[in-house]
Amino acid sequence: MPFLDRHIGPRPDDVAAMLEAIGHPSLTELVDAAVPASITPHEQAEFRGLPRALSEGEALERIRRIAARNRPAVQMIGQGYHETATPAVLRRNILESPGWYTSYTPYQPEISQGRLEALLNFQNAIMDLTGLDIANASMLDEATCAAEAVLLMHRSNRKVKGGAVAVDSRLLPQTLNVVRGRLAALDLEAVVTDFSGGLPEQPLFGVLLAQIGADGELIDVAPVAEAAREAGALVTVATDPLALTLIPSPGSLGADVAVGSSQRFGVPLFYGGPHAAFIAVRQGMERSLPGRLVGVSTDSSGRPAYRLALQTREQHIRREKATSNICTAQALLAVVAGAYAVYHGPEGLRRIAEDVHARAARLAAGLADAGLELLHERFFDTVTVRVPGGADRVLARALEEGINLRRVDADTVGVSIGEPHTDEHVAAVLRAFEAAPAADDDAHTGDTAAQAADAAPERFAIPAELRREDEYLSHPIFHSHRSETSMMRYLRELSDKDLALDRTMIPLGSCTMKLNAAAELEPISWPEFAGIHPLVPADQAEGWAELIGDLEGWLSAITGYAAVSLQPNAGSQGEYAGLLAIRDYHRDRGDEQRRIVLIPASAHGTNAASAVLAALKVVAVATAEDGSILLEDLAAKIEKYGEEVAGIMITYPSTHGVFEGDVAEVCRMVHEAGGQVYLDGANLNALVGLARPGEFGGDVSHLNLHKTFCIPHGGGGPGVGPVAVGEHLRPYLPADPVAEGTGAVSQAMFGSAGVLPITWMYLAMMGPEGLAQASRTAILNANYLATRLDPYFPILYTGPSGLVAHECILDLRPLTKASGITAEDVCKRLMDFGFHAPTLAFPVPGTLMVEPTESEDLAELDRFVEAMAAIHAEMTEVSEGRVAAEESVLRRAPHTAEVLAADEWDRAYPRSQAAYPVPGLRRAKYWPAVGRIDGTAGDRNLVCECPPLSAFDIENEAGATAGSEDRA
Ligand SMILES: *Cc1c(COP(=O)(O)O)cnc(C)c1O
Repeated sequence: MPFLDRHIGPRPDDVAAMLEAIGHPSLTELVDAAVPASITPHEQAEFRGLPRALSEGEALERIRRIAARNRPAVQMIGQGYHETATPAVLRRNILESPGWYTSYTPYQPEISQGRLEALLNFQNAIMDLTGLDIANASMLDEATCAAEAVLLMHRSNRKVKGGAVAVDSRLLPQTLNVVRGRLAALDLEAVVTDFSGGLPEQPLFGVLLAQIGADGELIDVAPVAEAAREAGALVTVATDPLALTLIPSPGSLGADVAVGSSQRFGVPLFYGGPHAAFIAVRQGMERSLPGRLVGVSTDSSGRPAYRLALQTREQHIRREKATSNICTAQALLAVVAGAYAVYHGPEGLRRIAEDVHARAARLAAGLADAGLELLHERFFDTVTVRVPGGADRVLARALEEGINLRRVDADTVGVSIGEPHTDEHVAAVLRAFEAAPAADDDAHTGDTAAQAADAAPERFAIPAELRREDEYLSHPIFHSHRSETSMMRYLRELSDKDLALDRTMIPLGSCTMKLNAAAELEPISWPEFAGIHPLVPADQAEGWAELIGDLEGWLSAITGYAAVSLQPNAGSQGEYAGLLAIRDYHRDRGDEQRRIVLIPASAHGTNAASAVLAALKVVAVATAEDGSILLEDLAAKIEKYGEEVAGIMITYPSTHGVFEGDVAEVCRMVHEAGGQVYLDGANLNALVGLARPGEFGGDVSHLNLHKTFCIPHGGGGPGVGPVAVGEHLRPYLPADPVAEGTGAVSQAMFGSAGVLPITWMYLAMMGPEGLAQASRTAILNANYLATRLDPYFPILYTGPSGLVAHECILDLRPLTKASGITAEDVCKRLMDFGFHAPTLAFPVPGTLMVEPTESEDLAELDRFVEAMAAIHAEMTEVSEGRVAAEESVLRRAPHTAEVLAADEWDRAYPRSQAAYPVPGLRRAKYWPAVGRIDGTAGDRNLVCECPPLSAFDIENEAGATAGSEDRA
């Protein structure tokens, strides 16, 4: 069977029935009626350069040949990426388990307790290791995270307003470049220094320090941190979580913020990403922390329950008041890193760190004994060596042994030891430096060499003042799962609490939760992809170059743009990159003053947030009655701001789920005013193969590969948000983060490269006609749901033909008004039916936005209609006054097994109605792990660490509140 028929849900007979329900004779006719002719000038968008569809087998065979062009080696390059041993139990049961990777961001906490606990484990591990009070649930990468930390210091510093940030020149090059770029965009000053002459003599709002330099030096940050604090500056320390098991925590050294990458906690190199970065802050800064934060609250039974804290703050990314635009982060990779800490525990992590350090020390001793000069005698895992004129020779010899080292310059070589590296690897590196004892040494000298090696750790021991004394990871969770059996069951227990795509459709409008096919996912863990360091010589990554080249070409063909960069590692980052391109384009044309972006009120929160980060001013454009952009208002805004207009950001089809007829006119008006059109491509699932944004008026778009192009959502990341541009913007695409300059938006050239094979497989298996068929089916499924649900909940917006695009908004407001039952109540009640809620309150408060995607079949769509019809009947009971809203099955949803099995039952509805409102549930039933969670209480009393086990002990009554002690 062709892959297309596996990817698409409805069978041919179903399609006929669905079309009949909608009242259209054929799929083509339906799509022609829905999609305005003005954007499809050609009969059918052509895909030059997109090959015909391959079968699963053929595609796997093709990609295997591509993978074979990559040459995995022992990676000792370091620079923010270290070899790590991914425990197979984590790989198979998290990274390769759909229960984890197909889940959505845990906005609905009652069906997300498993992944929330896993993220809390990550937060706890980071808090303990960094010695700070609060850590968030992951950041996109270490470099952008360091930039976010600087911005956090800037807005949190109450003593020094304005001023500059002093940035350690010993930070990783990509961190330096990205930080400088992000600050330059905002006209903030960064002074780069190694602090050898103390602090720069000028007002500083913050300092950004390296605890370990790019060349491996262990740095005592305490003196500079103290001087900085005295000068009123805040202090951020960039660090390494594995080293922190041995060296003092940033918190203990006076840092306010710590950042770093958790990659070496079990996450493969992935050619640069995805990896979860971390940020931790001291108490008092948590409310301006970027990204998501898991906290603890209580459920309707008074039990501790996890939820995303301060969610309202983040959900809208604060629009024009935004301080950060992070939406999709790196949840899945944070789960892996947290689980790695759980599995190894503090002793295990310390042992791994000691082994790493001991091998680095032995290497250093061998090199020093051979008379080579080391740049630093204090190091954790990285030794940097002077070899005047000999770097290339050493690298070549190492490569003969299958090892990659770091070429610092022609005279200097760096070696970074990772967890899987052995004494044999160390010996091989010594041979590469011609520093090994000759092979024909007699037994006696061999002994001496061995003794010298044993003495090495002492000789290069981490000095006492740079040693950690305090405890970490003392929570029981880091001591409970040492056997693989226990770990496997713990991971299963967690994922069983959650609803992911492996159990139900996730009809989240704007998020496109479609099939993430197994064949698409398979290649990502192959060592030929996962084992490549992002800084290897080009001839070791030819497979990656081919795959990336294919993708850039195919995505250009799909979008009609001239060029694509895969660097942005989330949609928000693609937006940021695209807006910078617009800004720089105007600047180079002498239009520096063009700094205003017009954004419709209905836009996704990241749109405005990205504009703010690119130092652009946001002006809202009103929407008309029918939800489309109000052309008169657009004209008025253009008139008013004239030559200040940088451009417009629109989403197409709109966030209202409608193909607006006059999009071409909107683009024309903005162009005529000298502005550029940013077309948010998050809704491309309605367009692929039907129309190309680069042709109907867009100058630049980002795509969401984690929506339209099958990269799984991972519970909130990873993502890939490529930016696609017209020819005139090509020079402004993101630059190489390790080259000189500040034009990079992620720390790795290809961002989250490791998950790109997923999209490659999808495109290769679908082919041009399959992709168009997917879009048509997405439109069919949405219109089918709209038709079936409209009698219960009116569809808020439709296009000129009365049809919706690939999603639709259900207007609950009239019934909410009559009954008091809110859209949120409906979301919670859907859990009792085993459904994940649709998108709540975006883009219109009080509504639900439903996007079925092409992957859901008719039976699943009908199951959803049945659930919504049953809920409508329950709401009607309330609106007709037969039951009070507070007493209703809706308000008291979701229902746990525990509540329903209690000996007492005093509710206004029978237990059977709560648990089995429709017959199908008797066959297969999902039980929410907790009752309704109190959001406000959780925000008032912010607790972001694992509660003690006693908190969950039902025998211990006091325990039920132990998790909510006030720490805010
Ligand atoms: C998802 C989405 C974004 C942001 O994408 P992230 O990857 O979460 O940063 C932007 N715009 C729209 C319309 C979206 O749906």
